[in-house]
Amino acid sequence: MRAPAEPAPPIDTDALIIGAGPVGLFQAFELGLLEVQAQLVDSLPYRGGQCIELYPDKPIYDIPGLKVCSGRELVHNLLQQIEPFHVPFHLGRQVNAVQRRDDGRFDVHTTLGDHFVARAIIIAAGVGSFLPRLLRLPGLERHEGTQLFYQVPEGLSFSGQRVVIVGNGPSALDWALRLAEANTLRAADRVTLMHRREVFDAAPEVVERMHAACRAQRMQFIAAQATGVEETAGRLSGLQVAGGDGAQHTLALDLLLVFQGLSPKLGPLSHWGLAMERKQLVVDTERFETSEPGIFAVGDINTYPGKKKLIVCGFHEATLAAFAAAARVFPDKAIPLQYTTTSPRLHHLLGVDTPAAE
Ligand SMILES: Cc1cc2nc3c(=O)[nH]c(=O)nc-3n(C[C@H](O)[C@H](O)[C@H](O)COP(=O)(O)OP(=O)(O)OC[C@H]3O[C@@H](n4cnc5c(N)ncnc54)[C@H](O)[C@@H]3O)c2cc1C
Repeated sequence: MRAPAEPAPPIDTDALIIGAGPVGLFQAFELGLLEVQAQLVDSLPYRGGQCIELYPDKPIYDIPGLKVCSGRELVHNLLQQIEPFHVPFHLGRQVNAVQRRDDGRFDVHTTLGDHFVARAIIIAAGVGSFLPRLLRLPGLERHEGTQLFYQVPEGLSFSGQRVVIVGNGPSALDWALRLAEANTLRAADRVTLMHRREVFDAAPEVVERMHAACRAQRMQFIAAQATGVEETAGRLSGLQVAGGDGAQHTLALDLLLVFQGLSPKLGPLSHWGLAMERKQLVVDTERFETSEPGIFAVGDINTYPGKKKLIVCGFHEATLAAFAAAARVFPDKAIPLQYTTTSPRLHHLLGVDTPAAE
């Protein structure tokens, strides 16, 4: 008889950063300079927080030393900056539980079952986890994970399936085209893209490809709104929809993919017993520590007198929180201030050469 599988051992880390937005990324850099090992968790499957999710191609003009950069460029630069510290990222999972242990460290759990044991936690959770906007129809919820998906899981078979895709953004069009243009035996039987109006929020060339696929009858687009579901023998068999003219009909389906964008939800961190004001974590302005010693909060998620939700303010907060976290991780060590310009130790950590003395 095989022994039951052992649960994976917890991941030990000096610091766990919750949130890989610009401030969480810079937090990893500042901790790295102080030799505090950090790991990063984010509920999005990619890094960059609001900069990538909300305005990747818009210009930012108030990052010190950069005349202008887009959200995407800022995140790219921050990722390059932290490369020397080889910070592990755990993406596509939400931190859902934090508990203090008897030894003063913290147990941290994620929605994918990861278990971290951390000496310090830095919450850089911004405006909360970005979670998919749900399609709310009575009875639909119970089909999530079998016929209803907000993120397409790897290996999902579309072969011979009637697929309805709800949405008008890049993800909706991308999946519609992937399925419509697939020319293999595993292709879907029928692909329908549905949005309440014939307006698309995607690159013009993608919209043109979608129109071309419709003209070639590889897929169809309908402007309609879902009003209910139909079930047959416990399975989701159709979506009741109302068209622009108010006419009701049923779209038969086997799989329903919903891409209505993401919206931030404060989520589980409001239940961790930390002092909050207006959905923000209250911190001091010396250490950026919350009401729970060892748990720090930086960036858009925190509040203090004079708080400004700006990236540059988050960078300052991350710098001071790093010193406070380092003092906790190395209680017997002095934490001196060193300049990256002149410190051979920092040059070693950054993997750069120390200039020869003149
Ligand atoms: C349109 C727009 C333009 C802007 N322009 C500027 C500008 O020009 N200059 C400027 O300074 N600021 C600007 N801002 C504000 C700036 O984007 C924010 O101040 C900044 O993103 C805050 O960074 P952050 O790292 O604190 O949080 P965020 O960028 O919000 O990142 C937080 C991350 O934490 C993750 N997360 C949250 N909870 C959890 C959890 N429980 N588990 C796992 N992950 C979690 C989220 O998924 C997210 O990725 C702009 C904002 C918007 C919306």
